[in-house]
Amino acid sequence: MLPSRIAQSGYNAQTIVRKKIANADAAEPLVIGVDIGGTGIKAAVVSLSGELIDSVHAPSPRTVSALRDFVRSVVKRANSPVRGIGIGCKGIIDTNSTRVKSSPGDLCFLEGQLLSEVIGAGDLSVCAENDARVALIGEVLWGAARGRRNVVMLTLGTGVGGAVLVEGIILHGASGAAGHLGHTTVDPHGGLCICGNYGCLETRFSSRAIESDYWAHMHRAAPAKLSKSSTGEVPTPEAIFRAAAEGDECASYVVDRALEYLGAALVSFLHTFDPEIFILGGNIAAAGSQLIAPIQDKIARRTKTLLGREVPIVFPKLVGYGGVAGAAGLVFLKQNLLAI
Ligand SMILES: [Zn+2]
Repeated sequence: MLPSRIAQSGYNAQTIVRKKIANADAAEPLVIGVDIGGTGIKAAVVSLSGELIDSVHAPSPRTVSALRDFVRSVVKRANSPVRGIGIGCKGIIDTNSTRVKSSPGDLCFLEGQLLSEVIGAGDLSVCAENDARVALIGEVLWGAARGRRNVVMLTLGTGVGGAVLVEGIILHGASGAAGHLGHTTVDPHGGLCICGNYGCLETRFSSRAIESDYWAHMHRAAPAKLSKSSTGEVPTPEAIFRAAAEGDECASYVVDRALEYLGAALVSFLHTFDPEIFILGGNIAAAGSQLIAPIQDKIARRTKTLLGREVPIVFPKLVGYGGVAGAAGLVFLKQNLLAI
């Protein structure tokens, strides 16, 4: 059975919870990290050493005022002075102004908003950044890529996110869209993607892609062992990976094909960015060795000539709280308390 990485994190998905994770040195600078996701929002007081002193988790706000109330409640709960607030948010964020340039989907109410104004933090310094980049920053400061200066991270979930660190600098590009690795074309004749392109990696390897591919095979009466639930839900990627491991012919075909696309994309990213280390995060990455083992040899073979070395492909260390830690890291970096 696949491990549920989020379940290991200690967060309660339904209610706001208070959980003391670690006791930081009283003299350590503290920052509040906020991770705004499509379904949930997390926040924590984070110490300079990356420890979470206090954390809360609640369903995502659906209005500006609800977001403001949530963050204010976190600031009020902090027992010690904090040096600022870092925010990770889905979409394209102008890091200079903290304006949300675009955030399609559940967080569209934030488009055009200045996050620093929305949360009304008074004199507190506020930093904001795209959520995938924030997760990478967390891993570089305290996690799997600690001390590295060339890192690529891919998050495999409902969609596919990405972030790239090159020679110590997080790539943003001219308009802030750099690093959206999930929208790399892996099939020029593929289906329409949410981004408007066709055949993106996200259309071939994501929860949505794997579920719909399996459903398409079931629908065509392929020899599939899984079926829709009594409420009409199609099998989850977790169930499909498990079925593949147990010999379900249809699941094996779907998983193998999806992995082919993922492997091809990874080779391209390795050739493009030449990272020291590659991080695979997101819910699907919980498949662990079942995910990597089948494509590792192919990746090594396809990259040995140009790169001439094997790049470690690893999983995140800050599982479940990389977003809040990385968001706090934005403030520590801005105030030169930490450096990459
Ligand atoms: Zn796309």
